[in-house]
Amino acid sequence: MKNFSNYVDFDTKENLHFESRAVHGALGTEPLTGAVSMPIFQAATFRHPELGNSTGFAYSRLANPTRQELERTMAILEGGICGFAFSSGQAANMSVFSLLNPGEHVILSDDIYGGTFRIVGDVFGRYGIEHTYVDMSDLKEVKAAIRPETKMFFVETPTNPMMKVADIRAISDIAKEAGALLVVDNTFLTPYFQRPLALGADIVTHSSTKYLGGHNDTISGIVVVKDSQEIADKIQVHIKSHGSQLAPLDSFLVLRGIKTLPVRMDRHNENAKKVAAWLRTQPKVRKVYYVGFEDHKDYAVTKKQTSGFGGMVSFTVDSSETVRKILKDVDMIMFAESLGGTETLITYPTTQTHEDTPKDIKEKLGISDSFLRMSVGLEHAEDIIADLNRAMNA
Ligand SMILES: *Cc1c(COP(=O)(O)O)cnc(C)c1O
Repeated sequence: MKNFSNYVDFDTKENLHFESRAVHGALGTEPLTGAVSMPIFQAATFRHPELGNSTGFAYSRLANPTRQELERTMAILEGGICGFAFSSGQAANMSVFSLLNPGEHVILSDDIYGGTFRIVGDVFGRYGIEHTYVDMSDLKEVKAAIRPETKMFFVETPTNPMMKVADIRAISDIAKEAGALLVVDNTFLTPYFQRPLALGADIVTHSSTKYLGGHNDTISGIVVVKDSQEIADKIQVHIKSHGSQLAPLDSFLVLRGIKTLPVRMDRHNENAKKVAAWLRTQPKVRKVYYVGFEDHKDYAVTKKQTSGFGGMVSFTVDSSETVRKILKDVDMIMFAESLGGTETLITYPTTQTHEDTPKDIKEKLGISDSFLRMSVGLEHAEDIIADLNRAMNA
């Protein structure tokens, strides 16, 4: 008997397409009232009819109906047995690194999200967990980093912000041979475009603050476990001990976001393609980083494992003065951290998202003071381009 209930142990409507499953979720409707959208169960605790009899809910830190609908929906969409919803992407990733014991070693993508650097360096480093950063798009480098103590590979693909692509299937084979878990942070592409569990990963994580929530209005995180009940139990102990579960209102917002995920992702994808192509024609732009370019180094891997390129584009301009001008003069586009929402945001990674990335790694990667990252939103592509053009060139 499973001692918690966010497992997917019911009909997951596998005959339906992804779009239909995103709309209808796990239960879809609320069973008692028939409400077609899962209500916000804003309750801390749940009444029991008698001793030994329960509705399945006891206390909202352990399980809450709104959160559970989100957890199960994400397990369905990623193709795992069990999902967990956290108060942030950081909290989700913390739970995954907590699977490691002192003396064990994790191999990570070198241009991983800045906050993840902080988790492995400042937090878990103190508990005797070792780490090595590698370029995950270079399988030789990945293999060379393996030690007897290596127990986990943590991959972001495409990477943030340099848009490097890791071959999930190939790294999964390497991880299996090393007896290590493969974790993929699937924030950038979401299960609509990329399903890492089907490609051999053991765990998927998300900052659902980004595309899953999709509206720049909530901070949240997701973990989905592929098939190991042992791992699921450990994550459950972690979330209930740390108290890092997602609140009912935020669970509702992410669930609501997921219903439109496919249509939003398609539009993000189309808009980013147009913006990336335009950037390439610009005299002040030195280099554009976008996984949808056919001459991207890892284009073949991208085509093999994803069904879309996502909405992220990074670029280097001619000088830090141009950066300054763009960030000051954009009007509709907002100079703000984060990504994956309806609004187009432009970010300056070197002092924002990647402030905590070690300096030598930033230099090696090219996260310089003339480097910008853009999350292309859902406005009309022509308006995005016009705004950028004016800010950069006028
Ligand atoms: C934003 C982000 C995180 C951290 O998530 P929060 O929701 O901000 O805590 C982790 N990984 C990636 C790839 C991100 O973009």
